[in-house]
Amino acid sequence: MTSSARPTTPGEIREDVLVLAHNYVRREVQDYADVVGDSLELAQAAVESEKPYLVVAGVDFMAETAAILNPGKCVVHPEPLARCSMAARLSVAELERARARHPGVPVVAYVNSSAAVEAVSDICCTSANAVRVVESLDVPRVIFAPDRNLAAYVAAQTGVEVISVPAFGCCPTHQALSKSDLEDLICIHPKAEVMVHPETSPAVQALAHFVGSTSAMLRRVRETDATTVIVGTDISILYRMRRLAPDKVLVPASHLMACPDMRMVTLDLVRKAVQTREPVVRVDPAVANGAHRALERMLSVDRDGMRPTSPQRDLPSVGPLPAPLGTGARP
Ligand code: SF4
Repeated sequence: MTSSARPTTPGEIREDVLVLAHNYVRREVQDYADVVGDSLELAQAAVESEKPYLVVAGVDFMAETAAILNPGKCVVHPEPLARCSMAARLSVAELERARARHPGVPVVAYVNSSAAVEAVSDICCTSANAVRVVESLDVPRVIFAPDRNLAAYVAAQTGVEVISVPAFGCCPTHQALSKSDLEDLICIHPKAEVMVHPETSPAVQALAHFVGSTSAMLRRVRETDATTVIVGTDISILYRMRRLAPDKVLVPASHLMACPDMRMVTLDLVRKAVQTREPVVRVDPAVANGAHRALERMLSVDRDGMRPTSPQRDLPSVGPLPAPLGTGARP
């Protein structure tokens, strides 16, 4: 997460505004923002800020989360049409049907969900704290929405049975990275460390030395001894990675990994939002109350974004691979 004085245009007043940008937005928006981070870091920064206006440069659920956690602040979303396509695939009705099929099983909602879905869930999580959140429940089974890939990662890390709802829910940006494409890249860069986001498929995760949230990947890229790193998440993160680790050769796992929803948030729209303080995010009070409970419960659980991949995992055969590289490395 970064926070520092940012450039302004003449006449622009932003002393009372905190601009929050996700790691996946355009580089010029990252440069303009006061805080750049993953979903959990942005939520925490929004809560900690004393500024009355929050401009959220990200997709809809991030702006909703900021609004729900900060009822006394004015939250502005520069582009309301920037809507996470994974979150949009899960309805409250489908989640409630799953609850009815599995009575008594707690529902964990990835924050990449609508506020309405969060409101009927027991607890939220981010990719940075999903394992910790599920472990904190101390139950044998959970319903997990809406990403089956993160659900599978959590199941492998915790041993908890995870029921994914919807059954085929996933992020199209991360699903775009195929196992065969990654295998080809590993053959080209046999000594590279492979790091991927847990929203990638289990087959892709099985090829990686490190699986973690964007914040965990940003820490890892500085710590690894590898000189070349294959990065399996939205390519916009490479901008920040290159500044954090200028000595590393960073190879995008796929140029298809570019979320179109995140790219809708342009610098012009963010500047306009700062100037006009519009469009304001409004969440139905009943929905906000329910979602607030699930989000607050999540924030009470410690973050654990650096958990290593499972040492029990079978290793795939994809040609020469580097030796173990420390925390998060393939055993
Ligand atoms: S990268 Fe995937 S999960 Fe993130 S906003 Fe885009 S579609 Fe949603």
